[in-house]
Amino acid sequence: MECNKIIEMLLTSVNAIAFTGAGISTASGIPDFRGPNGLWKKYSPELASIEYFKKDPKGFWEFYSLRMRGLFTAKPNPAHYALAKLEKLGLIKAVITQNIDGLHQMAGSKNVIELHGTMRRCYCTNCFKEYKSEEILERIDKGENPPKCSCGGIIRPDVVLFGEPVYRIHEALEIARESDLVLVVGSSLSVYPANLIPLTVKEYGGRVIIINAEETEMDHIADLIIRDKAEVVLPCVVEEIENQTLHRSS
Ligand code: NAD
Repeated sequence: MECNKIIEMLLTSVNAIAFTGAGISTASGIPDFRGPNGLWKKYSPELASIEYFKKDPKGFWEFYSLRMRGLFTAKPNPAHYALAKLEKLGLIKAVITQNIDGLHQMAGSKNVIELHGTMRRCYCTNCFKEYKSEEILERIDKGENPPKCSCGGIIRPDVVLFGEPVYRIHEALEIARESDLVLVVGSSLSVYPANLIPLTVKEYGGRVIIINAEETEMDHIADLIIRDKAEVVLPCVVEEIENQTLHRSS
């Protein structure tokens, strides 16, 4: 059984981490970028770039507020809860995520590194005052587009847009270098530099498990590939670990 292979690898590692992408949140109703129903099948990635935000903040917010709206009705799914449980059990030490939806924290994960920021927060590009995204969406609904700070600066989401540096990558790479197992979940592994995380774990002697619905760009470095849905595989792993613990203690 594939679940058992994952469990064996988790139990024989001392510093495992998870690395997640948009695919872990599709079961929560948030579309990924490159899967069969991905966002880039409908929209151009250029809409989520810093160049576009600077050129046309109103047009940027028309697109981005659509993405944000989907977020506020989304709830964590069994895959998010399973990773939170694995952290609680001490079987993974951190979740490094490319996602900007905040669902790992909602599910109870504590040590989460959001490589690409979060859609739940915005800030002023002039004075850096922070705003909750709900408030900004309400203001856009009332016709304030682009939304502006009291200082007059234009407000933007606290996410890394295309064309901007991934400022938490160094911290994440340090964690990856110390890790002996990475559980990659729901990522095409095509976004640089985030995809350096599994590569670094491998380079430093660790093992790589990929749980993804389709092929990824780094299947060749994987020690184990599970071509299945995250929300099916991860709860199965947790359930099986809990069963084994129960049997041992009874
Ligand atoms: P991606 O769209 O490039 O790849 C997602 C992968 O997940 C695909 O290969 C797809 O086959 C797989 N997948 C889809 N549903 C799955 C499921 N239920 N179980 C297992 N696998 C599944 O996404 P990426 O690799 O994360 O990179 C794209 C960028 O997308 C990231 O930078 C991220 O910031 C951004 N993004 C985030 C969200 C979010 O926060 N939820 C949503 C869309 C895009």
